[in-house]
Amino acid sequence: MKFITDYTLEELQRELEILGLERYRARQVLSWTYRKNTTDFSLMTDLSKGHRTLLKEHFSFHPLEIVERVSSPSATKYLFRTLDGHVLETVLIKERDHLTLCVSSQIGCAVGCTFCATALDGLKRNLTTSEIIDQFLQVQQDTEERIRNVVFMGMGEPLANYENVRKATQIMVSPWGLDLSKRRVTISTSGLVAQLRRMAEDPVMREINLAVSLNSPTQAGREKLMPLTKTNELEELMEVLRSYPLPKYRRITLEYVLIKDVNDSEEDARRLVRLIGRYRKRFKVNLIPFNPDPNLPYERPELKAVLNFQRILWENNISTFVRFSKGAEVFGACGQLRARREYVKITDL
Ligand code: SAH
Ligand code: SF4
Repeated sequence: MKFITDYTLEELQRELEILGLERYRARQVLSWTYRKNTTDFSLMTDLSKGHRTLLKEHFSFHPLEIVERVSSPSATKYLFRTLDGHVLETVLIKERDHLTLCVSSQIGCAVGCTFCATALDGLKRNLTTSEIIDQFLQVQQDTEERIRNVVFMGMGEPLANYENVRKATQIMVSPWGLDLSKRRVTISTSGLVAQLRRMAEDPVMREINLAVSLNSPTQAGREKLMPLTKTNELEELMEVLRSYPLPKYRRITLEYVLIKDVNDSEEDARRLVRLIGRYRKRFKVNLIPFNPDPNLPYERPELKAVLNFQRILWENNISTFVRFSKGAEVFGACGQLRARREYVKITDL
């Protein structure tokens, strides 16, 4: 079966032409799908009955099935099942004045960060474009308010699945697609240097927001936490980020998971200040206090240590924010997403 949600406008035009339909029918189908949120050909009333039947024979919309939904006041976690039986997670985060959808880009992850639950499963496979887009569509269909923000911060390393993430991004920000603002779509990466270079050259990808998970200000510290940094060295990473072509008024977010007695010392904060150096206008820092998981060997720092770390950065004129991840009550916070999981009832937490 082919999925409408796998195609750009241009690709769908070609597909429909092959079936003998006019090219402009593609725009109609995508407008129903993304603007009117209708994923049932029989309701697409500006198409003839014959066309609707033909389309139904060749295409469907949803490669995913919702298997569970867990809500808390600040977040709803959706568990989806793929056609080949994998489970993936998507989290809808309720911010004060808007909704943000945290999407997954892979089943599991190969990067192997020692503080992240997703890493415990290894990499099963990449998600397809339609599996990424369907997370948005199905959650939107389940939600009254429009979702305007997307972050690629769910399961997986988005830049390790470059092609599919790129096409999903294109569908998200195009007027014929989900029509989200480019500044409201964020890719979060552990810092794959070659792919970041590619992103910098890519007219679709370089327009969206970039967040890079730094997690330690030194090469040795990063290697301990993030095995992949043995080949994607900190110095090289910083060089790419310093010259990355940023749209006006845009900054790169450096994400830093603060782990008790591992990377939360005053000395680490000062090292981070030195690493950013004279590029402080180019970056902002998000400090994420570690979210514990029964299978991970780390602890969350005391609030005092978090605020102290933030103060040192502020004193050096580096914009720094503390992000208490939402969704921890539903095990949907950063680093808690897993494909294989023991079900934890909220009442047990
Ligand atoms: N693979 C990408 C995106 C998914 S992870 C990346 O690493 O950037 C999204 C964010 O969650 C990253 O910044 C990561 O450092 C953070 N994270 C992972 N495990 C965490 C944990 N246990 N507690 C808090 N944040 C965590
Ligand atoms: Fe993968 Fe990101 Fe988790 Fe690291 S933090 S294992 S890159 S999902």
